[in-house]
Amino acid sequence: MWLASWMNFNLKIEMDILEKLTEVFKEFPGIGERQARRFVYFLMSRSLEYAENLSSSILDLKKEVSQCKECFRFFIGKNDKNICEICSDPNADSSILMVVEKDSDLESVKKSKVYHGKYFILGGLVPIVEKNTKSFVRINELLERIRKDKNLKEIVLAFSLNPQGDHTDFYIRSQLKEACKIQDIRISSLGRGLSTGTELEYSDNETIKNALKNRQ
Ligand SMILES: [Zn+2]
Repeated sequence: MWLASWMNFNLKIEMDILEKLTEVFKEFPGIGERQARRFVYFLMSRSLEYAENLSSSILDLKKEVSQCKECFRFFIGKNDKNICEICSDPNADSSILMVVEKDSDLESVKKSKVYHGKYFILGGLVPIVEKNTKSFVRINELLERIRKDKNLKEIVLAFSLNPQGDHTDFYIRSQLKEACKIQDIRISSLGRGLSTGTELEYSDNETIKNALKNRQ
């Protein structure tokens, strides 16, 4: 009898750890239940040393990463002002500001080497059915940034071409309209060089170049 309950107890612990870790991986972008489970089984098959390396790398990442106070991107390194190398680059064109959803979008545009202005990371897209939109994106921070920036001549909205991206474009335009009118700033959106359904993150250099050239 006690053996059965002891085995049950052990089985429960095992299930809890499996479930717990699966839930953690499910929070990763683009990862569903099945993939999350595959990650957990993969980790089970690896050595203790592998797991130790992985967990210490994650902790090191958290210790070494900073978030830029101006564009909100994450970067490796620390400095007194907490400003990233793009925002502090004197050669970057400060008359143009590109607003993107997330860090990986910024990296794609940066890698394409066709844009030399500044960036702002919105931190998400605005869900289509949502009343409290402000809690999803950094709209107040963006407005603050625009108000402070006297050199700004143009804001480029660069969201993925899908319904949520379009909705965010519309929402941000309506929120910025007043401030941009007062400061005489043009608002444009990435052009149709991107085809419908395109994720900015996965676009190649040529596509980004065309989209930027055809911005409207
Ligand atoms: Zn920055």
